[in-house]
Amino acid sequence: MNLSQSPMPDAANLPTTTPDGTTRDRAVLLDGKVVSASIREEIAAEVRELIANGGRAPKLVAILVGNDGASETYVASKIRNCGLVGFDSAVERYDASISEQFLLERISLLNDDPGIDGILVQLPLPKHISVQKVTEAIRPEKDVDGFHPVNVGRMVQNLPCFLPATPYGILLLLQHYGIRTEGLHCVVVGRSNIVGMPASILFSRNAEPGNCTVTLAHSRTRDLAGHCRKADIIVAALGKPRFIKADMVKDGAIVVDVGITRVPAPETKSGFRIVGDVDFEAVAPKCSYISPVPGGVGLMTIIGLLKNTLRAARKEVRF
Ligand code: NDP
Repeated sequence: MNLSQSPMPDAANLPTTTPDGTTRDRAVLLDGKVVSASIREEIAAEVRELIANGGRAPKLVAILVGNDGASETYVASKIRNCGLVGFDSAVERYDASISEQFLLERISLLNDDPGIDGILVQLPLPKHISVQKVTEAIRPEKDVDGFHPVNVGRMVQNLPCFLPATPYGILLLLQHYGIRTEGLHCVVVGRSNIVGMPASILFSRNAEPGNCTVTLAHSRTRDLAGHCRKADIIVAALGKPRFIKADMVKDGAIVVDVGITRVPAPETKSGFRIVGDVDFEAVAPKCSYISPVPGGVGLMTIIGLLKNTLRAARKEVRF
């Protein structure tokens, strides 16, 4: 295992027993910065090779509807990352007042454009536009977010497909640290179509990472803390800042924090701070591994997207 990662806060400096029974004297940070930089290098090398062999750079088109501040930030970051690995990219911006029909027609044109490999529509969309219709309008072979029912169905059956970018990023993060998940009990908190549900499927698949016994928890779950205390792996994806407390986590657990919530922080320049779903300072000392927010899963989600776009350009997934 790779233990030479970024230092943890002092609070994490306690003996920890990992799910595989080994002990170490401090938790390891699942460092999205380090891992995403390393995978970006690999992707960039593949792009250079594609071009050297007479191919063209993969191309991603992002569609942004309306003026949601967080969406602007996410799309800007995705486009910047495309540039870092040598992809072509474009953003199509539309006013929140556009009709659903207009957006569907636009997607249809992008579907038919052979120069475009991946299409993503940044969520959330204005209320009058159906997320379901838009998701299904993107051709599965260009659905690099992995949200189309064809991709989701193929994921469930462990067939070649585009995996949803966030759970895919989580798997890549664990893989990078050589974490073996086989036989572990994984509790996923949150059952959304884009994070919790697919994460629960991926952790339960007969694959590595995978082969976990999975509990999928949600807002109706009774005794959530009791379920979490039995978990070797907790994936927190509920969107409630610092919800997972130290007394919900057993010693040596692996904790993956997906949450991203902006909380007011008048002391910062932007006026807000990004907080995860885990009470990091209190939980970290009990963990064998823990991902920070920011600097964890968010960066890996973009890597999931880049890897899907590269696979789309290579026509690696056949439908
Ligand atoms: P959703 O709001 O779609 O889903 C939240 C889920 O959490 C629901 O299934 C809900 O249950 C469950 N939930 C809510 N409250 C509780 C509770 N008290 N106890 C147990 N379960 C609860 O969120 P998303 O999945 O879209 O996002 C979750 C978080 O992850 C957000 O903070 C989001 O910003 C972040 N995110 C981060 C990404 C990244 O790249 N790091 C990517 C995508 C999201 P129910 O179904 O019963 O309502």
